[in-house]
Amino acid sequence: DPGLYLVSTPIGNLEDITLRALRVLRGASLVLAEDTRHTRALLSHFGIRASLHSFHQHNERHKQALVLRQLQQGAAIALVSDAGTPAINDPGADLVAAAAAAGLPVIPVPGPSAVLAALVASGLPTAQFLYCGFTAPKSGARRKQLTPLAGQPATLIFFVSPHSLVAALADAAAVLGGQRRCCLARELTKRHEEFWRGTLEEALAEFSARGPRGEFVLLVEGAAAGGGGGGAAGGEAGEGQILEAL
Ligand code: SAM
Repeated sequence: DPGLYLVSTPIGNLEDITLRALRVLRGASLVLAEDTRHTRALLSHFGIRASLHSFHQHNERHKQALVLRQLQQGAAIALVSDAGTPAINDPGADLVAAAAAAGLPVIPVPGPSAVLAALVASGLPTAQFLYCGFTAPKSGARRKQLTPLAGQPATLIFFVSPHSLVAALADAAAVLGGQRRCCLARELTKRHEEFWRGTLEEALAEFSARGPRGEFVLLVEGAAAGGGGGGAAGGEAGEGQILEAL
């Protein structure tokens, strides 16, 4: 069927591709990829030969009109990013907005995303969460980004680049409170997958010592979770009370 298909691809483990994703990629008249070399390798692993075209932040606007015209003519076009779900900190959001505004069908083909994989295994509350994108690369901007989030009751989810992880943890501890619980989800779905859990202060000590390597998602407990003011030590206090009661 014609339309713009947003196809999620693995974030590490190739077994996470869905049957539907393979079918859609096989049948698409055009596959738009963030990095065509990367996607070609993925597709050839599954024996798929597709017409691949680059679609990344530098040519997104330029390519948009072209893609819309093809969609209007009834093409089935698949959009993929290097890993995970397109349009989540990856190219595609503007194209989707334009296609939707033009009344063209936009079809999600759900699958892996670092955001949800990290959240569900973090052990932090999942009822409300706020995806905050990447932490800003510089400390001043990062603190400005974090300040309005200090009172936010939802679990906070950030992408963090490994080289700024330690500095980001320091800023998060300073702005959100060092006693807040957090989780670092590292190398999701890969061989060295790890969920590190503790307070922001403990995370800072741990990752300063070991030197961060790999891909990270940082999750921080929301402000009111566990009943602690500003989220500080809410979880721990609760556990202590349970132990006393026993
Ligand atoms: N659109 C993608 C998704 O839905 O997962 C996210 C793309 S974003 C450019 C890349 C960031 O996602 C990485 O810097 C890292 O923070 C996070 N990420 C992606 N894959 C990951 C993995 N396997 N383990 C941990 N974090 C990952």
